[in-house]
Amino acid sequence: MALIKCDKHGETGFMPFVSKELSKRIESGEHIKHDDISWIDVLLIDDEDGEILQEIRYWMSTSFFNSISALKKYRILTEHDEKEVDRILSPIIKGGGCCGKCFDEQTDKIRLKAQ
Ligand SMILES: [Zn+2]
Repeated sequence: MALIKCDKHGETGFMPFVSKELSKRIESGEHIKHDDISWIDVLLIDDEDGEILQEIRYWMSTSFFNSISALKKYRILTEHDEKEVDRILSPIIKGGGCCGKCFDEQTDKIRLKAQ
């Protein structure tokens, strides 16, 4: 895992799957409400046996999610799917990512609810 230097936590793990705008809000210590956070699940699936190879949850603010008219869940089976999902996700995660501990602190309750 990549490391990041956080003002609050020092050198700690980097959480990459958070949009730039949400990362900024998390690191500023702003209290973020449940309905202010949305996520997109991306499942990477083996196109031969249908096995889930990887599942990543991408986090962003709800207003951002609403502005991009994306689905809540994407399944990647082919290269074409991958390109399509990349196109949707790249503006979200470009320049994003934040301190893993700050992310945990800010989203603990939300993530429990989201499971
Ligand atoms: Zn931190």
